Amino acid sequence: MRTFVRCGQLFTGREDDTRADEILVFDERGMLDYVGPEKGSPRRVRSDKILDYSGCFVMPGLIDVHTHLAYGNAKSEEDIDLYSPLEFRALRGMFFAQKVAAAGYTAICSPGDAGQISLSIRDAIRAGLFDGPRVMAAGPYLTTHQGLTDWYPTWIGAPETSIGKLVTNINEAIEEVRRQVKNGVDCIKLALDGIQRRPDGELIAAFTQEETDIITRESHRLGRKVISHSVGREATLYAARAGVDLIFHGFDLDEECIAAMLETGSFLCPTLTHPKNLIDFTQPHEPAAQKGRVEQTERRYRLGCANLKKAKAAGVPFLPGTDTGFAITPYGEWHARELELFVADLGFTPAAALRATTEAAARFMTGGDGIGVLEPGRFADFIAVDGSPLADIGVLQDKSRLRAVYIAGREYRMADRPYDPRQVTDFALSNWTDLYTQARVAELGALPRRRLEAAE
Ligand SMILES: [Zn+2]
Repeated sequence: MRTFVRCGQLFTGREDDTRADEILVFDERGMLDYVGPEKGSPRRVRSDKILDYSGCFVMPGLIDVHTHLAYGNAKSEEDIDLYSPLEFRALRGMFFAQKVAAAGYTAICSPGDAGQISLSIRDAIRAGLFDGPRVMAAGPYLTTHQGLTDWYPTWIGAPETSIGKLVTNINEAIEEVRRQVKNGVDCIKLALDGIQRRPDGELIAAFTQEETDIITRESHRLGRKVISHSVGREATLYAARAGVDLIFHGFDLDEECIAAMLETGSFLCPTLTHPKNLIDFTQPHEPAAQKGRVEQTERRYRLGCANLKKAKAAGVPFLPGTDTGFAITPYGEWHARELELFVADLGFTPAAALRATTEAAARFMTGGDGIGVLEPGRFADFIAVDGSPLADIGVLQDKSRLRAVYIAGREYRMADRPYDPRQVTDFALSNWTDLYTQARVAELGALPRRRLEAAE
């Protein structure tokens, strides 16, 4: 049995333009065997199925290379690391993975999660136990006492349930790579940004160049890709020189970083959605606002986009990713905002943004030669949209315009299930973000209750 899909406009991921009135034909395994005009297509027999999306824009399923399945819409780093057991996080991660698929994202990379959560979700979906997106999985970030994800004081260390695996020398790093590969990760995540700054403000990388080289070489030797978290110039440069496959952020990159990226072929995922959501959505009472992070992020975002545009102009390949999994970037909500920001803030055309999130992203993904483009020999992973993202890239964020999502030729649907967010994350013990001194209370005009009673 074959399925014939009528498409109004077809964007294959291979070209910038759409094709009108073409069809997709896929077989029982969900593999495309024909993409083209209806005449010239395989002959239809009575048992074949027809799907009519002749009023829709049909394109490959979207890919987000930066979605953390274990974070659970976290409100704090402690939320991510401490408060819930890994087993709960895995169940929660499966639920949220399904929300991501329902938003049209048929494949994601989950780059750095505690335990073996992402790879367990990947395997459960792959085995057919649950419907969900294709998942490319990493384990915990490799970090040092100078790296992010080693958040807590040395007397606490990086707990077993943390997203960071603390390695204190190169032998431990190699051992961790081999352990994770044995357990089945698709990629190794490096926390390459440090926590110290030079007098001029530059972030000092968490690993040395030599350590980055050795870890990357060992991961590649074992057939795994490497992803780095690199905001700082030095962390970006070390990653690019080492041949890290995908660099996150890169906001402080310079000409030297660009040259190294072009030389080794690193992809760059700037991840604009997280900082942009932080800037646009953070309310004044939030700790992030109280700590001045909004202004700080705004400044960094502006400088970052200016640097990133240079990398784009030089030909560095960009992949869309969102850092979904935080309270500011909940699952299934803002993935396609990244494409809008690629257009608005980095100067991508809508077509280039769409190709970045399909064909280009697939080149990075494990098993990527089977997805990302609608052509024979690849899976029928596609979405049907009411309206053209080429005319308005923002249409991909409008859930009411997403008509259908198919993964390997099977329609993916998720009933909209309400859930209690307070039982999902935010198990922190903190109760206040303000400090109620007498002066502060007077400033707030909040009279002590005793005096209120007396006044009555
Ligand atoms: Zn991230």
